[in-house]
Amino acid sequence: MKFNRRDALKLTGFSVLAISMLPRVAFAARNSLRSLRTGVQPNNKTRLVIETASRPSYNLSYPTNQLVVSLSNTAANSGITPKLASGSLVTSIEQSQAGDNLKLVVNLRKPISEISKSQIMVLEPNGDSDYRLVLDFAAGTPPVQKSSASEYGSLPEYTTTTATPTTAITASRKYIIVIDAGHGGKDPGCIGKGGTREKDIVLSVAKKLKSKLDTNGFKTYLTRSDDKYLKLAERAAIAEKRKADLFISLHANANPKRDMKGFSIYTLSEKASDEEAKKLAEAENAADKIGVEGFTQFEENIRIALSALQQHAVAEMSEEYATGCAKSFKKASITQQPGPDVRHAPFAVLRSTVPGALLELGHLSNASEEKLLKTSTHQDKLVNAIVRSVKNYNFEV
Ligand SMILES: [Zn+2]
Repeated sequence: MKFNRRDALKLTGFSVLAISMLPRVAFAARNSLRSLRTGVQPNNKTRLVIETASRPSYNLSYPTNQLVVSLSNTAANSGITPKLASGSLVTSIEQSQAGDNLKLVVNLRKPISEISKSQIMVLEPNGDSDYRLVLDFAAGTPPVQKSSASEYGSLPEYTTTTATPTTAITASRKYIIVIDAGHGGKDPGCIGKGGTREKDIVLSVAKKLKSKLDTNGFKTYLTRSDDKYLKLAERAAIAEKRKADLFISLHANANPKRDMKGFSIYTLSEKASDEEAKKLAEAENAADKIGVEGFTQFEENIRIALSALQQHAVAEMSEEYATGCAKSFKKASITQQPGPDVRHAPFAVLRSTVPGALLELGHLSNASEEKLLKTSTHQDKLVNAIVRSVKNYNFEV
């Protein structure tokens, strides 16, 4: 069994963390354990995820058929039942408190070799998850026992940014991205004063994005590769059918205020986060009201009944992607529309089991941004920022 976040949605809420209230502890440990789980990675690697309330400081040792993870200044949590994936090397995990340090004794089916730094990640909190110490390991020759444990504190400053390449390298299958160029055919989307049509800009960006993601090792599909009209549910259905790991819908904005400019990023929610987001979703959803003859009916979207937990997981992953995407745009110095990094609204195109986001790349209603959006330099800049956001997105944890 390969463990991947998208696959996990099909399991019984495996990737969803219920964060329980923690019991109070008698000593002054600053950090506390929140959850423990394992998964199986490509190349028979086992992934151990240790979730803690604050950034973990850790130390590893390798007694026979065990891995011991010592977390400094951390409180045990007896309320935690480790979620162990079948087929992983881990048979059980025990907690033991040694003063302020929490020892996690991980019992293994087979000895493992020393875990290299490239196989260790500390992920920042995201959505509902806290800090995660992620360790990937495989069966191998155990390291020579050291007489004294190495010092605490020299933990690598990994973040999600540096973490992802490891994932990409170890992945045995390519992650699937469906890129949706908004509008098309009889639906031009919004039109700038200079006559620039949203459907053309987003198609151009979508094609560039596809080729760049392909060269970066992803498997990509476009919902449309030419000037064709597609219903919103058909776009979502393509993501389902392709079993996409991520869905990116590209759009450009119009605003009655001509001086309004910048990008904005949206995820699906039943309630809009603000009035502007609500209006935008209404405008984007209106695409379905345009009647078009002669287009072949796509097979009906298979409506998978998602449990509340699964919906929560999709929402959490989408939020994580969208947050990282906003970060990447800002890092590339792309103008941001004033407001929060990620907004929420009931976009029909995002209604699926695939995590994703809708990106409004800029405002065609703004004269200078309309000009900018037409240039290949700026389109490349947008594409590079999106590629970075996809590479940084953690598909596995
Ligand atoms: Zn649009």
